[in-house]
Amino acid sequence: MTTSTTAPPAVRPYESYVYAYPHKTAYRPLPDRPALRELWAAEPKDALSLYLHIPFCEVRCGFCNLFTRIGAPEELTTRYLDALDRQAVAVRDALGDAAPVRFAAAAFGGGTPTFLTADELERLCDIAEKRMGADLLAVPLSVETSPSTATADRLAVLAGRGTTRVSIGVQSFVDEEARAAVRPQRRAEVEAALGRIRDARIPVLNIDLIYGIDGQTERTWITSLDAALAWRPEELYLYPLYVRPLTGLHRLGAAAGPEAEALEQAAWDEQRLRLYEVGRDHLLARGYEQVSMRMFRRADAPRESQDGPEDYACQTDGMIGLGCGARSYTAALHYSFDYAVDMREIRSIIDGFTATEDFSRAEVGRYVDAAEARRRHLLQSLLQAAGLPLADYRARFGTDPREDFPAELERFADRGWLDGQAPEGLLRLSQLGLAHSDALGPALFSPGVRAAMAAYERK
Ligand code: SF4
Repeated sequence: MTTSTTAPPAVRPYESYVYAYPHKTAYRPLPDRPALRELWAAEPKDALSLYLHIPFCEVRCGFCNLFTRIGAPEELTTRYLDALDRQAVAVRDALGDAAPVRFAAAAFGGGTPTFLTADELERLCDIAEKRMGADLLAVPLSVETSPSTATADRLAVLAGRGTTRVSIGVQSFVDEEARAAVRPQRRAEVEAALGRIRDARIPVLNIDLIYGIDGQTERTWITSLDAALAWRPEELYLYPLYVRPLTGLHRLGAAAGPEAEALEQAAWDEQRLRLYEVGRDHLLARGYEQVSMRMFRRADAPRESQDGPEDYACQTDGMIGLGCGARSYTAALHYSFDYAVDMREIRSIIDGFTATEDFSRAEVGRYVDAAEARRRHLLQSLLQAAGLPLADYRARFGTDPREDFPAELERFADRGWLDGQAPEGLLRLSQLGLAHSDALGPALFSPGVRAAMAAYERK
């Protein structure tokens, strides 16, 4: 499909990436510190997702705003795994045994889980299996890695313990682009890492790439796409760059005042929309199908790649997150440990986590009422290329999203973001709408969540 998405945008196309709703900046300390045992008592527990968060990386990538720190001095990883172990014991205890507890999917994310050594990864798998009771050999297990930490010994552990999907952040196969916006890495090292991953015979390989880097052109973008395609990855994620490095051009724009700044911003939006379109069309023409704005899946990929959730960043109810940056979801409460973006604060939160003895209560979070649950369902389904079957929504809430969100959906229709040709009973984005996912998602935030996010004091 080659429908144009580069018509002058009515709104800024890149507001924010909505990978979870509500965002953590809408969470607050929970004054009553509810006991996990009570929170989980009435929840269905026979198909939970398990997420283990490892907040360490070797370097900080230029665009990254995830909860992670560089390096781990003085046995910090050991202390972190000790705390994770204590937390797992407390959480499994809180889930109780009155009803069957079963995990249907697991993921190790970060940070960079493979920052841990092979022995530490064994221990991480033990925590998931022996403490939490997840059968890693029987369920989809997704693990994030990086070129320099995807070593043969670590991959052997992960493959042996049942990993079904490895996701590697490459970002660009062009060394200068990687250096400019991402991190210093050499293509030869990236290619060697991809070779080791394929040698480990983990069924699904996902490669993350980024577009919108300073100096990136359609030609260099296609160079990266083709270099990735040479590995026939089962999945590819194409991410727009969000944090613009302080390039000479950028400083010039800032110095020249708000007008020049706005022009520069518009040019960057235009570059990203154009590269998105080029990337999408390149992959669609090479046997990939689009799952969401970012995610593409090889149409003939083995069945294993389709057993997991549609989008690995998509969270469903019934999520147990362990580690200091992980979220957990019951139907009524989303909660986590503390949250920060500043490096010093992140360090102190990790130190606080490793010193914690009592993990039996939820500390920070946000209650999700019925209206928010509807928003969340609409938002997460609409951002998938397959769209939202109205019957699913009606089965869950007894209403029609067009009645619940008439103003929002009318606005989206006016902007050409809804697919007028979608089959009866399906609410689906148009190509233009999919390209504007990062504007559409935030437009569905409730006034309450928006206000909480705006009032959040970054630390
Ligand atoms: S490796 Fe991933 S988590 Fe770590 S700094 Fe880079 S983008 Fe962020």
